[in-house]
Amino acid sequence: SMDENSMSHEILQVSPDQGHTLPILKKILDLSNKIQDLKIQHVALSDEVKQTTESFPGNDVLKSVQLLGAEYELLKRKYLDESSERRRLYNEVIELKGNIRVFCRCRPLNESGSASVINFDSSSDNELQVICTDSSKKQYKFDHVFGPEDNQEAVFQQTKPIVTSVLDGYNVCIFAYGQTGTGKTFTMEGTPEQRGVNYRTLEELFRITEERHGTMKYELSVSMLEVYNEKIRDLLVENSTQPTKKLEIKQAADGTQEVPGLVEARVYGTEDVWEMLKTGNRVRSVGSTCANELSSRSHCLLRVTVMGENLINGQRTRSHLWLVDLAGSERVGKTEAEGERLKESQFINKSLSALGDVISALASKSGHIPYRNSKLTHMLQSSLGGDCKTLMFVQVSPSATDLGETLCSLNFATRVRGIEGGPARKQ
Ligand code: ADP
Ligand code: MG
Repeated sequence: SMDENSMSHEILQVSPDQGHTLPILKKILDLSNKIQDLKIQHVALSDEVKQTTESFPGNDVLKSVQLLGAEYELLKRKYLDESSERRRLYNEVIELKGNIRVFCRCRPLNESGSASVINFDSSSDNELQVICTDSSKKQYKFDHVFGPEDNQEAVFQQTKPIVTSVLDGYNVCIFAYGQTGTGKTFTMEGTPEQRGVNYRTLEELFRITEERHGTMKYELSVSMLEVYNEKIRDLLVENSTQPTKKLEIKQAADGTQEVPGLVEARVYGTEDVWEMLKTGNRVRSVGSTCANELSSRSHCLLRVTVMGENLINGQRTRSHLWLVDLAGSERVGKTEAEGERLKESQFINKSLSALGDVISALASKSGHIPYRNSKLTHMLQSSLGGDCKTLMFVQVSPSATDLGETLCSLNFATRVRGIEGGPARKQ
């Protein structure tokens, strides 16, 4: 037990949680951190712990109860070695499967009374079947497929390992792609009752930073911006009376892309994040007659910047996690597209196909990656490719009335992923 009361006693009981050396050791280290704080000198180990730590070289130290000074440093080092080994193994797995993932999420049918044209295979979690108008069937395969019954938590469980790698110094990009109304915003942002990937991610990042307290020090900050008609707007600048200052992409001295002047707000906990997201959404809707309409025609980007410091070796990292709710991918009919609407849809087409081109070039390990073809890909350049991790959610509707757009989205995602023959190789 680790409550205040027992901490004030001289003897602490350590019980094993899973019988593995690492979690126990970690617990002991956490305790010894507290022990130093509280100047408690003794740790009593239960017999079970003694057994499971038998093979560990620091075993004698553990038994002899002195977890301070040099012995403590030894344990700490051992723990860090083990965790970096674990990280290395994890990355080997990633290497094998590649750094690009595509998840498909199908929303539930709405009340329109229209039939579903998507079948899910109960024995597989990564395939789906679309029934076309001529009754022919098309099979699609992704890294994971979420059906209408899969809730926000189920989606987050699969997303978690990717997003949390930002704390290990990786740049990560997550996109929600699809026709308007298919649940892009639901997946990323969610609702106050069913919070999405954005909030859950920050919650998890804070949880892990807490857990690593003592070995790693982290600073988290958040930026929120919108790309509309190839113009960048800061969503954390709440000043409706003045026109927002124009933001541009600049190349920093180290070759990475920066957006000078973009607000980076320090966040200390999930409350701060929730407030920030609310501000961003408020700013986003200012100046538009219909918030939903506009939001489907612009890309909304949430950027989490992580500054990490390894307290043992002093190594510092700075990495970005981008959580992107893309503009609606639907094609605009020739008749409705004129004037402003036509211009908008051209910008959207251009940036979405630029994104598709970049990801498929990365997936096919093409030498030339065409980052410069849109603001979106240019801005994300340092977070796309190399050992950066990319995840795209392709959102679809099961409704027969959306069949055409559904096929377009699934084909786009398939091309991006490089499965099914793979994309045409660019030299
Ligand atoms: P998009 O951002 O792609 O235009 P939205 O996220 O706004 O789509 O979703 C449209 C509507 O459908 C919203 O009311 C949303 O709450 C609902 N919705 C979308 N996906 C789901 C889902 N998986 N479960 C329940 N409701 C959903
Ligand atoms: Mg939306």
